[in-house]
Amino acid sequence: MENKEKQPLVQVKHLCKYFKVGRHAELKAVDDVTFDIYKGETVGLVGESGCGKSTTGRCMIRLYEPTKGEVFYDGKDITKLSKAEQKKFCQKVQMIFQNPYASLNSRMTVREIVGEGLKQHGTPKKEIEKRVQELLETVGLNKDHMSRFPHEFSGGQRQRIGIARALSVDPEFIICDEPISALDVSIQAQVINMLKDLQEQRGLTYLFVAHDLSVVKYISDRVIVMYLGMVVEEAETEELYSNPQHPYTKALLSAIPEADPDKAKANRRIPIKGEIPSPINPKACCRFAERCEYATERCFKEVPELREVCPGHKVACHLMDEK
Ligand code: SF4
Repeated sequence: MENKEKQPLVQVKHLCKYFKVGRHAELKAVDDVTFDIYKGETVGLVGESGCGKSTTGRCMIRLYEPTKGEVFYDGKDITKLSKAEQKKFCQKVQMIFQNPYASLNSRMTVREIVGEGLKQHGTPKKEIEKRVQELLETVGLNKDHMSRFPHEFSGGQRQRIGIARALSVDPEFIICDEPISALDVSIQAQVINMLKDLQEQRGLTYLFVAHDLSVVKYISDRVIVMYLGMVVEEAETEELYSNPQHPYTKALLSAIPEADPDKAKANRRIPIKGEIPSPINPKACCRFAERCEYATERCFKEVPELREVCPGHKVACHLMDEK
């Protein structure tokens, strides 16, 4: 069935997250972001650091309360859940964090870390022991690791412990917040492949937050590109990488190293001039205007609307009006 005919598992609607900075200033980390995620798919959320992708993920699991807008999970507004629904939501939606060094409590053993969620959900002690062992085996560790502490593991192993912890409560949807960016390149592929296998075996749905576009291409069904708190482009992976429309997406993709020397010669690297502007009190214009080689007067006066330019492909750029 086509996605459009199905009810999305997650709906993010006009989500805003602003942080007060001083008396009169506001840092608009996420500003009017809307997208859907369907059951069983992986959506990649990409952009430079500071673009609001991680903040979006954190609002979706209520680590941050949205300033405005809504997030629906399975048709329900996540800010209006009853106590029982909230407990279920915490079980169904899990997060894997960027930094496997900081996200595991250094004073807890692996048995306690992975078993914590099971304990909270009332699993009997004997059952927890068995489940923790199974979960460790699922992520490529074993029962000998149960009594050890996080500092006794490598970065890749710690991320595996983080994944086992997320899986412990049998979730449906996992927000993977830059899960491999703190790992050695040699380990990154192992973790990505494991996430892919787990998705297939367990029918998981992922939001994969990352700044590395080549990794996102490999794992995602659809990709959403963010710039300075807003979505600038969204499309199926194949479409986005072969037919990018937004000048920012084009520049990001042109910076991916090409293994084939002939293709590398043919590809023109599109430079992005200047630094990413401050998200504090941004002007009502295209946020990419100062760095865009196609910017016109209109771009400095009007926020471009994110609109569908062909089925499933949305772009927020005034250039699209000329097409
Ligand atoms: Fe560039 Fe204007 Fe499009 Fe913004 S709206 S990306 S400034 S052409």
